[in-house]
Amino acid sequence: MQPIPTIGVLALQGDYESHARALEQVNAQPKMVRTAAELEQVDGLIIPGGESTTFLKLLEREGLFAPLEEFARTRPTFGTCAGCILLAKRVTHPEQQSLGALDATVERNAYGRQIDSQIVTGATSLPGGPLEMVFIRAPRLIELGSGVEVLATRDGSPVLVRQKNILAATFHPELSHSDSSSESDSPDDLERNPDRRVHRYFAQMVRDALPESGEGKSSAQRDPIRQSR
Ligand code: GLN
Repeated sequence: MQPIPTIGVLALQGDYESHARALEQVNAQPKMVRTAAELEQVDGLIIPGGESTTFLKLLEREGLFAPLEEFARTRPTFGTCAGCILLAKRVTHPEQQSLGALDATVERNAYGRQIDSQIVTGATSLPGGPLEMVFIRAPRLIELGSGVEVLATRDGSPVLVRQKNILAATFHPELSHSDSSSESDSPDDLERNPDRRVHRYFAQMVRDALPESGEGKSSAQRDPIRQSR
């Protein structure tokens, strides 16, 4: 049986609830992370979208910047949109501080102000064919180090990348849907058929990083399995 990892979702701002739901759907146990002590208890972490400048202020205020920097050096960490900006080594437009875990340059708000949000279907190497991607005031990955693998593209540009323990998306994978078997026109996203391939991929990264025995690891990881869909 596959182990059930405990995956933290940084819950300072942004759509952390949707990420938590997505994690349950891929057989992971979500845990909201707001403090350094909570960060200690998780096997991997998602940094959601939001506003990266606000994140920086909140991380500083909560004393979370340094612990997060340390976590992202070695532990599975997935940044989406503003989270991707926080993980990148270099940020432009304008320059700002970051955790420096992903060897990439990211340009903020790269698609212009007039395009607030966009839904695009792009190519991916994840199994299952093209992926629906929701971009919201999205950044663009404009330079990647040689150790960075591209997992999905939009018009030929990288939008989902991995470097060892780091996964980063410039879009919002918690909002992706597959069109197959989506019959309703409901405005409620939850009524549609969510596409959880990106969260599934990250959950597997976290599982692969779990120590064999679990000794010396977070106790959360060994907690009795709670309900998972
Ligand atoms: N534009 C935001 C920033 O620069 C990111 C937007 C998002 O996370 N959806 O931080």
